[in-house]
Amino acid sequence: MNASFYLPTRVFFGERALIENKKSLALGKHAFIVTGKHSAIASGALADVTAVLGEFGISYTVFDKIQENPPLLTCFEGGKLAAKVGADFVIGIGGGSPLDASKAIAAFAANQGIEPMDIYDEAKRKNPTLPLIAIPTTAGTGSEVNYYSVLTLPDGERKKTFKASDAWPRVAFVDPRYTYSLSHGSTVSTALDAFAHALESYLSPKSTVFSEQAALFAAKELWDVLSQAPAQFTPEMREQLIAAATAAGMAISVTGTGFPHPMGYSITMLDGIPHGKACAVFAGDYIEYNEKTELGKARIAAFAAHIGTTPKLMKALLPGLANVDLSFTEEEIDRRVKLICGAGNYTNSPYVLSPDEMYEIYRAHFLKK
Ligand code: NAP
Ligand code: FE
Repeated sequence: MNASFYLPTRVFFGERALIENKKSLALGKHAFIVTGKHSAIASGALADVTAVLGEFGISYTVFDKIQENPPLLTCFEGGKLAAKVGADFVIGIGGGSPLDASKAIAAFAANQGIEPMDIYDEAKRKNPTLPLIAIPTTAGTGSEVNYYSVLTLPDGERKKTFKASDAWPRVAFVDPRYTYSLSHGSTVSTALDAFAHALESYLSPKSTVFSEQAALFAAKELWDVLSQAPAQFTPEMREQLIAAATAAGMAISVTGTGFPHPMGYSITMLDGIPHGKACAVFAGDYIEYNEKTELGKARIAAFAAHIGTTPKLMKALLPGLANVDLSFTEEEIDRRVKLICGAGNYTNSPYVLSPDEMYEIYRAHFLKK
C-alpha cells in the first residue's frame, strides 16, 4: 500500500483555542484581517484576535469587504491594500468565503503587479504567499485545513478554484463557540457541505487510508447530528459539527470533491442557493449514479454502514434537508448546465457523468411542469 498525507497547518481545536495558544497568532508585525460584514464580529472571533494582537503590540488593518462566494476582483483589491499598508501576514476570519478570500489576498499581496487572472498561473506568482492564519466561524468548508480558494470569476457566474502549495494556512484556530451565532438554516447548510466533502472524498479514486479515516469520522459525527433534525443546535452538537467539518476539510485536501460540487455552483451563483444546500440537492443522484458501478456500490454500502444508516436513507435525508424548490425552463437549464460542463471535479468518482446525464439530473429536479 502506498499513501501520503500532508498537513502543514497547525490546528488548535476547542473552546478558547486562540486565547490558550495566543503566541501562535504572532506571525508578523502588521496583520491584514480578512472578514465578511458581520460574522467576524457576531462570532466574537474578531474581538479575541484584536485583543491578542493588542497584547503583543502587533498593528492591524481590517478588510471587511468579503461577500459570499468571494469575487476574484475583491481579493485583488484586498491584496493591493494589504501590500499598501505593509502587512506581513494575513488572518482570515469567517466562513469559507472570507477564509478562501484570505488565501487569494495573501497571494496577491506578495505578488504586486500581476493581473487578477494571473493568480491561476504559477509562473506569474513569483513570490510565496504571505503567512496565513484561518479562524472558521462556520462548521462547513474545512478551508482552514486545505489549500483551496474557491473564487467567483469576473463574469459573476462561474467559480474557479485557486490552489497553491503555499496557500495552506500555517495555523488554524477552531473554536466551536465561534459558530454559536450562526443561524439554524446556515448551520444545516454548512453541515451539508461538510457531509458532501466526507462522502465525495470517500468515493474519490484519489482517497487513501488516511483521507478515508478523516472522511468516515466526519460523516459519522455529521450524520449523528443531522439525522436528529434538531430544532436547535446545542454546544455539544456544534462541537461535533466543527470537528467533523475540519476533518472533512483534511479529507478533501487529499482527494478534492465530486460532481455535486460543480453541479451546485450554478444554482448558488444564479439562484442564490447557499453552497451546502446546493450540493445536497444532488446527493441522491451522486449515490444513485455511483451505485451503478460495482466499486461505487460497495463503497457507498460501507460508508452508510459505518455511520449507522443505509444508502436509501441518505438519498432521502440529504436533499430533504436542503429543501430547495426551484423550477426552470429548458433554456434556463441549458444555461446552468453549460456553466458547469468544464469543471474538473465532476470526473472525480467511480461513475463519471456524461453531459447528457447532467441535463437529465437538472431536468428531473427542476424542469417546469
Ligand atoms: P460563507 O459564504 O462564508 O458565509 C455565509 C453567511 O454566513 C454569510 O452571510 C456570513 O456572514 C454568515 N456567517 C458566517 N459565520 C457566521 C457566524 N458565526 N455567525 C453569524 N453569521 C455567520 O459560508 P460557508 O458556507 O462557510 O462558505 C461558502 C464558501 O466556501 C463558498 O464560496 C464555497 O464555494 C467555498 N468552499 C470552499 C471550500 C474549500 O475547501 N476551501 C470547500 C467548500 C466550499 P458574513 O458575510 O458577515 O461573513
Ligand atoms: Fe464544499
